[in-house]
Amino acid sequence: MMIKQNITETIAINIEGEVDTYYFTVLKDRYEKVPTEYQDAKTLFEMYAEKMVMVPLSKEESEQGGISRYEPANKKIWIDVQKDIYAIESGGIFFHEFAHMVVDLNHMYEKVVPVGRFKEFSEALIAEASDYIGKWEKRASELAEKYRVAPERREEFIYNKTMELMKKDILESNSYFFPYGSLSDILDGGSHDKYQISQGHCPEDGHAYWELPYHLPDEAFADIFRCQILGLKEEITKIKKIFSKSYEMYNTILKSIINK
Ligand SMILES: [Zn+2]
Repeated sequence: MMIKQNITETIAINIEGEVDTYYFTVLKDRYEKVPTEYQDAKTLFEMYAEKMVMVPLSKEESEQGGISRYEPANKKIWIDVQKDIYAIESGGIFFHEFAHMVVDLNHMYEKVVPVGRFKEFSEALIAEASDYIGKWEKRASELAEKYRVAPERREEFIYNKTMELMKKDILESNSYFFPYGSLSDILDGGSHDKYQISQGHCPEDGHAYWELPYHLPDEAFADIFRCQILGLKEEITKIKKIFSKSYEMYNTILKSIINK
């Protein structure tokens, strides 16, 4: 495969427009350093790299806060390259959007509904998010009891406390609680936007974002793929802890695509 010799060239020939050449160095470095245990993710990338078309975001769109997106209508990935270069985990935005393309090209959803294994993946994510969130809501409710919170303030107290406890739990387990973190994104969607612990896909995008059923498995797939490519072992450990079945399903889907 051509990509094994020169990933920079493979990505470069598929770019519509000019980008900072340093971006290729960032992506090449990420590609070369994928931990061996996530070889499947690397293989998936190799299989689809030539199919990818990337377009740098316009200056105007970037100034309006745009970061990145994948457009199923034209199969293109749009990225604010400078933002990806200077992100905490540089290159992560690229690999996240790349995974959206793979999901689309493999027809894992019809219109807005996940199908087949992707549907099972979605169900596992919802069930596990609900278990995790339910655990903290219960704890918050016990605290409301303990602090003798007035009945009229109880609901708000439980909501805020649950949010606080979850954030703390994620922070203590790893250092990846930041706006575009993968785990926080999955929990946003998994809670059906009830708990917005990330800053991605929130009010600006409209609460309707998570109402489309394919968005949760689609985002979770992209989020986990990004973690594997970047080798974010700490974050993966936490994802495996909260979403053990979902993580397994992700790996099954990954394998089924590369063995097709
Ligand atoms: Zn996404």
